[in-house]
Amino acid sequence: MKVTKFGGSSLANAFQIQKVCDIVLSDDSRRIMVVSAPGKRTKDDTKVTDLLIAVAEARLSGRDYSKELSAVLARYIEIADELNIQKVIPSIEEKLIRICKADFKDNVTYTDSVKAMGEDCCAQLVAYHLNAAGHPAKYCDPWEYGLFLEHDAAGKAVILDESYDNLSRLKEETDTINVFPGFYGYSKNKEIITFSRGGSDITGSILAAAVDAEVYENWTDVDNVFAVNPNIVKNPFPITEITYDEMRELSYAGFTVLHEEAIYPVFSHSIPLNIKNTNNPSAKGTWIVAKRTHFDSLVTGIAGESGFATVTVNKYLMNHQVGFLASLLGIFADEGIAIDHIPSGIDTVTIVLRKKYFTKEKEDVIVRRIEAELGAKCSVEHDLAIVMIVGQAMANSVGIMARAASALSNAGINLRIVNQGASEISMMFGLSESYCSYAVRVLYKELFRY
Ligand code: ASP
Repeated sequence: MKVTKFGGSSLANAFQIQKVCDIVLSDDSRRIMVVSAPGKRTKDDTKVTDLLIAVAEARLSGRDYSKELSAVLARYIEIADELNIQKVIPSIEEKLIRICKADFKDNVTYTDSVKAMGEDCCAQLVAYHLNAAGHPAKYCDPWEYGLFLEHDAAGKAVILDESYDNLSRLKEETDTINVFPGFYGYSKNKEIITFSRGGSDITGSILAAAVDAEVYENWTDVDNVFAVNPNIVKNPFPITEITYDEMRELSYAGFTVLHEEAIYPVFSHSIPLNIKNTNNPSAKGTWIVAKRTHFDSLVTGIAGESGFATVTVNKYLMNHQVGFLASLLGIFADEGIAIDHIPSGIDTVTIVLRKKYFTKEKEDVIVRRIEAELGAKCSVEHDLAIVMIVGQAMANSVGIMARAASALSNAGINLRIVNQGASEISMMFGLSESYCSYAVRVLYKELFRY
């Protein structure tokens, strides 16, 4: 059994939805489809999820949200008209309106429930279309199938383990195409919880793991994952094969083809993941696997991402003070802040974290506590980018760090942090945000001899 997940650009209009259905119907083992919400039809269009966020924002600020809601509905009406399945609209409309005007407990829960409707309505529509064309299909309600989520300490949606068992029943349901909405699940109290943006990738991975799929196909709008962001370097080297670990490192630092959290479920069940192009189904795509069968290049990919802050803590004789680091990290844990890296010296330690979680209020509390409780000096900077060079073939090869560092130094880029894990599959550079894309270009030129 194959699990197929289709992204928003693959479902943006009737023409794309027809392609998606043709892809599924062309292979009998494609029994589970996970759908995103319809994405952009043109460059300047708005994704349905963003339209829904606008609905939620309007309602939460006490404004009339009917204009925003009509914009959402118009997207589904347009698709239904073109597919000649207008009869699906009343049930989509009823659910959408019901969710949008429901009473709510708090802003986050309400926004999640509205945001999830993009995927939900899309799954209803696709299942209806398949049935109307004579192919047995059904919409799968994540509540009925037991896709249970909860929020972790940092507020992130995480799966409850029992969900895998619950969802495994889809394995037996092979007489229909099962159309599952991506991006969301339910709390045990039946409240909708969404993953972070792009989270339908995670749903697909969870379902693939639950049914022990032979492959998880993630259909998008590019032929391959590329060795570097094509918006930074023109026509970059395509990646035909990559390990879960390599992909995880690259997604961490900004590869957006696949959600960072989508790797773990398939990785933990050793299910290969194939990224494919809805607009060019015969292309082989990129295979994400446990073990590489071949290497096309020494370096697999280079990624760069802005949006990091550093908290540098300084205390004379820090290395002699037993428990100093534990107390320092305890402060971040108390404030619910995840830490990305901890480069350290003898009397200093730097905590690298994501700015989006490090609000001004959190920063003030943390700095105050470090100074008061640890008697240390503390300085915060907000302009760090992280650039990663990733490649399994780099292990045991001599001189890559030297080449990378001298290329960056010749380009006049100052390195603030340098880190190479003992596994040697990646190297990380911390540098000023304003140099992020430039650094990626410089490294690509050097390491891919471009
Ligand atoms: N529709 C959601 C988003 O735009 C989730 C997804 O497409 O995976 O982020």
